[in-house]
Amino acid sequence: MSLAVLNNTAAPLDPSALPPVQVEALYVHVPFCFHKCHYCDFYSITHQSPERMNHFVALLLREAEIWTRGPVTLRPRTIFFGGGTPTLLPIDAMSRLLAGLRERFDFSDVAEWTIEANPATVTLEYCRMLRSAGVDRLSFGAQSFDPRELKTLERHHDPDDVPRSIATARDAGFTRLNLDLIFAIPGQDLASWSDSLERAVALNTPHISAYALTFEPNTPIAVKKRLGIMQQAEESLELEMLRHTRARLTELGRPPYEVSNFAAPGEECQHNLVYWTGGNYIGLGPSAASHVQGWRWRNRPHLGEWERAVESSQLPAIDVETLSPRRRAGELAMLLLRLTRGLNFADFVARTGFDARAAWSDQIDRFSKTGLLVCDDHGVRLSERGLAVADALAGEFVAPGDDNE
Ligand code: SF4
Repeated sequence: MSLAVLNNTAAPLDPSALPPVQVEALYVHVPFCFHKCHYCDFYSITHQSPERMNHFVALLLREAEIWTRGPVTLRPRTIFFGGGTPTLLPIDAMSRLLAGLRERFDFSDVAEWTIEANPATVTLEYCRMLRSAGVDRLSFGAQSFDPRELKTLERHHDPDDVPRSIATARDAGFTRLNLDLIFAIPGQDLASWSDSLERAVALNTPHISAYALTFEPNTPIAVKKRLGIMQQAEESLELEMLRHTRARLTELGRPPYEVSNFAAPGEECQHNLVYWTGGNYIGLGPSAASHVQGWRWRNRPHLGEWERAVESSQLPAIDVETLSPRRRAGELAMLLLRLTRGLNFADFVARTGFDARAAWSDQIDRFSKTGLLVCDDHGVRLSERGLAVADALAGEFVAPGDDNE
């Protein structure tokens, strides 16, 4: 089968065309923020009224309804609410959403339910409501503990909001907590990054994500870079920061399990592991992505368009693709290489039908010889040197010709 964009704006995706499989992960995108951070390219909008948010929740539940009619069975093991700022939903609207999803799907297998939260917005009452509704993991966007760096990112919270939010979450009974951090912020040096990292680890969350700042096209920060107002960090500094992070968090019992994600044993984010191991997931809400057995699409990244599609009981899907087996295997190889455990040859052939050693013999051979990959009889993974070029190297496992095989 070839990879093809089957649908863009015309015919809606018909869920009955999808294979009858059980989907293990549910993502919900809440597209509201009270301010747009300057590096962010996620779909989110500001200044929305509680009425619009209430209407949004009612429509999310209608979108969920579409997935109760088969042939796909949504019986999630993991749930993730991202955004946007999910905790910006009024407490009663969030409560209705959580209960409404539970009524529509079988949640008896749910082993992890994460909600992203902004450190400036959570209250004890809100956290208690989430906890009692079954949410067991909160992820806070801390990004930096330096007020000047937060200003550069146009983040509207104060460094002291972070420990306060973590304490509030713990008071409400949460133990599974994540902090998101960003490094290689313009003007940041290794000492300042190290200071932010130490302030984060002092909060003792079992999970930390640390990503290098990326200048996504059309974000204000990318425009400032283009105009010469802001300088991107040198690659060598970025790499030094990544190496420091990996060494320090390993020393502190939270080793990397993915290039940018660190966890105490057993605290890895199971939802993200579904993405990174080629699993099936359904996304609800504007711009949310979905993947079901090689079918891939995203929801319309526009609140009004998404609303109109759902109001007419259609899936708000665009960019529907079916991936060729080779392409799917290549993308899976690419994701697995970012995991610390890497790609296990026996698992890979069992999942995809492709022997990775034969399918990518040239790449594996070349990059092992240059010390970017470590390969043995069982599998292949990135070396410490390979980390520096992780994205480029992983990209070598997907070629345009794969679409037609
Ligand atoms: S709070 Fe998060 S989603 Fe909202 S603008 Fe900032 S980075 Fe983007």
